[in-house]
Amino acid sequence: MATNRTLTMIKPGAIRNGHAGAILAQIQAAGFKIIAMKYTKLSAEKAGEFYAVHKERPFYGELVDFMSSGPIVAAVLEKDNAIADFRELIGATNPADAAEGTIRAKFATSIGENAVHGSDSDENAHIESNFHFAATEMFA
Ligand code: ADP
Repeated sequence: MATNRTLTMIKPGAIRNGHAGAILAQIQAAGFKIIAMKYTKLSAEKAGEFYAVHKERPFYGELVDFMSSGPIVAAVLEKDNAIADFRELIGATNPADAAEGTIRAKFATSIGENAVHGSDSDENAHIESNFHFAATEMFA
């Protein structure tokens, strides 16, 4: 299992607000290499599956509705220490708590509509990469 990869999604709100290009530029400027990428849209069923770990949380329905409300960019990123470095680049879940200059501080509008996803562990990066991409769609 790769330990230097993470899975990101640029969420529907950030796409709608025209920030996809700026977010990808910030990701690449931070030294992440794009291994796989697609512009796609999750059905409510697929969004629910991706966030199944949050099923019992009060915001689950809102999260599934939002994540299936429009297109996303999904990408697999590679860098040494990818999980931790990407979490640092995107900032805290709630943009109000996100450090200045982080992607969420710059582009998120609320805790629910927080611009980007980043995997929280190597294991989840692997699962989430395979959720979005076939092996033939990833280019190391
Ligand atoms: P992260 O995406 O930073 O890893 P979590 O895994 O805790 O954060 O939550 C997954 C996603 O669920 C968040 O990115 C956010 O979109 C949404 N979310 C988390 N907490 C809340 C909340 N209190 N209210 C609304 N949405 C939330």
